[in-house]
This record gives sequence, structure tokens and C-alpha cells, in this order.
Amino acid sequence: MERFNKILNIDELNLQATVEPGVITEVFQNAVKEKGLFYPPDPSSKGSCFLGGNLANNSGGPKAVKYGVTRDYVLNMEVVLPTGEIIWTGANVMKNSTGYNLTQLMCGSEGTLGVITKIVFKLRGYPQKNVLLLIPFTTNEEACKAIAAIFIEGITPSGVEFFEREAGIKTIAYCDQVLGSPVTTQLPENMGAYLLCELDGNDEDVLMKDAERVMAVVERFEIGEVLFADSTLQKEELWKVRKNISPAVNWKTVTKSDDVVVPRSQLPQLIVGIKEIGKQYDFNTVCFGHLGDGNLHINFLRDGMSDHDWETKVPEGIGEVFKLVVSLGGTLSGEHGVGITKRPYMSIAMNEVNLNLMRGIKKVFDPNGILNPGKIF
Ligand SMILES: Cc1cc2nc3c(=O)[nH]c(=O)nc-3n(C[C@H](O)[C@H](O)[C@H](O)COP(=O)(O)OP(=O)(O)OC[C@H]3O[C@@H](n4cnc5c(N)ncnc54)[C@H](O)[C@@H]3O)c2cc1C
Repeated sequence: MERFNKILNIDELNLQATVEPGVITEVFQNAVKEKGLFYPPDPSSKGSCFLGGNLANNSGGPKAVKYGVTRDYVLNMEVVLPTGEIIWTGANVMKNSTGYNLTQLMCGSEGTLGVITKIVFKLRGYPQKNVLLLIPFTTNEEACKAIAAIFIEGITPSGVEFFEREAGIKTIAYCDQVLGSPVTTQLPENMGAYLLCELDGNDEDVLMKDAERVMAVVERFEIGEVLFADSTLQKEELWKVRKNISPAVNWKTVTKSDDVVVPRSQLPQLIVGIKEIGKQYDFNTVCFGHLGDGNLHINFLRDGMSDHDWETKVPEGIGEVFKLVVSLGGTLSGEHGVGITKRPYMSIAMNEVNLNLMRGIKKVFDPNGILNPGKIF
């Protein structure tokens, strides 16, 4: 789809834009920002991924906690069906109760139902101000406990990102040695985990008051000295660390990665449980992610593991992690989708009735099974 790379129209009056699916997410964000508009979904891969891929995976990213995920910004799309017919799934309107919602059905369908060839997105006004706090915690569990507490206070940050110290250290080395872009901001030492908490809006006084309220909440937990990023450079560096964790963790070893999601209040049990399963199955994990949404990325590290352990023991351990997630009221993927790697585990999260409904939908759209065969089911 690389050649479907045009932004066809930015309709400022209706806060909408029509694009082709091969537009790079960041290119689109920058184009609408030039007009004072905001397209919030911002997967960390935004410099390389396509809007069509974002829709097909229903991607999220750090800002999803306040602004929602890709599916929350799509109004309508043109789709080429596997039968060769071309449809528009909805209408370019803010409300629509006209029949089944085919637009939303396409979101997260991972290329199994049709090929998206045009997308109509809705946009917002661009928030002019933001503040960013780096909050260090003594342990992963303490950081996870603080998250639900922030939201209970009625504060909605525009990002609540978590990373373990190991992830931060690896990424700082990666930025220096691989990207050639050293990070001068220091991570507070002797800490177990960090939360990066961003608040955005248009009124600086309101933001500062909300930041004080966040501080008052996190002080109830075991924290170190909070870093208030007071320059653009510091903000950029902290986001650079967060957004490069994924390639940094994969830099010196092979990983399997998952992106489970649980209700926020269950995060402490989840993080403790993952580490216990790791001990039981002999693997090391590095965790990070969009914990404001309850969405944790788990990287299972291969390091010196034998082929046998990597191919059999780790997948068994991953199954145990998924069972834990479901027992905590969560599910297998918050934003990366199912694809091939989570397919064998689908029955942990879904019963046969649900799976059969999905298989039926697939058959109606794609009777010959020609689009992304073998994905999801
Ligand atoms: C470093 C890194 C960081 C990431 N961070 C995040 C993050 O913060 N949040 C998040 O949600 N995800 C994240 N991701 C995963 C993310 O989902 C993808 O990067 C992105 O959304 C996929 O877009 P893509 O263009 O790469 O799609 P691809 O990987 O090429 O495709 C993804 C799926 O979409 C289907 N597809 C693609 N185009 C179309 C189309 N036009 N019509 C129908 N189906 C189509 C494909 O068949 C495939 O099944 C990250 C990935 C990486 C590598």
C-alpha cells in the first residue's frame, strides 16, 4: 500500500481529513498540526508506520489514555472487498445509527476482511501546553499501585507511561551507541521503575494545579525525587527514552513480546504475577507500556536460552501469563492485535461461540479466504 500515500483533504470547517492508507502517521500528524489541528493516536512507531496499518491493528500509543485509540478517530472508509466490490463503510458524520457499524468492524480486523483504500478521520484542536513529570518508584508494584490512584482523583493525564529501570538503562545506552543521540537527562538512581506522566491543555495554571494534584497522589507511595521536565530538551529526551524502549530491548538479544491489558486496579497483581511466572519458567522479562490504559508490554528475553527452552518452555510460560491476565479481567492484546503469534492462545480469552461468530463474519466478507489467511484464527 506504500503508493497510497496522499493526504487528499483537510477539512478545517468540519475538523475532518481524508487520507490514503499509506500516509505515515507522523506525516499526517504534522500536516494537520500546521493548521492548528490534532490527530492524537501516536504509536511509538509513528515515524514509520502507516495510517492503514494503524487502523487495521487499532493502534493506540501514549495519548490513548486521554484521547482514545485509532478507532475513536475514524468516521468512514473506502474498502476493497475480497470479492472485488468497493464500498464506503459509513458516512462523514459525527453520529451514525444507520445499521451495523461496518466502519468499526474494519478497525482491528488485521487485513482479514478488506483492503482499506481511503480513510476519513475526525480531528481536534491542538492543545497548546503540556507538562511532563518523571516519577521514580522503589518497585514496579509501587508504580503500578499509583496509577489507579491518579485517576480516582479525577485527573486525566495525556500520558501515563511505565518502564522498569532495566528498560530505561538499556534505552539510554541504545540512544547513545546506536542512534548516536545521547540522553543527558539522568534517571534517578536506585529505583525500580518510572512513570512518565504528561498533562496537556491550553491553560498553564490549570496544568500546574493538576501536576500538583498528581504529586500529592504519588507522594502516598514509595517514590524518589520527581523530575519536573522544565525544558523542551528534557521533555524530548524523556519521550525519546520511552519511545525507543522497544528497539533497545531487542538490540542485544531476541525477544518475544506481548501487549496484555487489564483493568488499572489489577496492575500490581499483574506485574508481580509475571515476574513469578518468569522465575517458574526460567525467563527474564522487561516490562513497559501504556499503564494509564492498563496496557503492559512484556518482552520475554532470550539471552542465553537453549532452542528447546525458547521454542517450548517460553510459549508455555506466555500461556500462563495470558491465563493470569484473563483471571484479572483482562485480555490478550491492547493494541498490537493477534496476528500469528497470539492465535494459539485465543481460546484463553474467547469462547467458541465468540470465535465462531468471528469466523462467520470472516466468511461473509471473504468466502474464499484470500485475505491474510491464517491470521487471528
Ligand atoms: C518500535 C515499535 C513501536 C510500536 N509502538 C506502538 C504503540 O505505541 N502503540 C501501538 O498501538 N502499536 C505500536 N506498535 C505496533 C503498531 O501496531 C504498528 O507499528 C502499526 O500500527 C502498524 O502499522 P504498519 O503500517 O507498520 O502496518 P503493518 O505492520 O504493515 O500491518 C499491520 C496489519 O495491518 C494490515 N494492513 C495494513 N494496511 C492495510 C490496509 N490498507 N487495509 C487493510 N489492512 C491493512 C496488515 O495486513 C497487517 O495485518 C509499535 C511497533 C514498533 C515496531
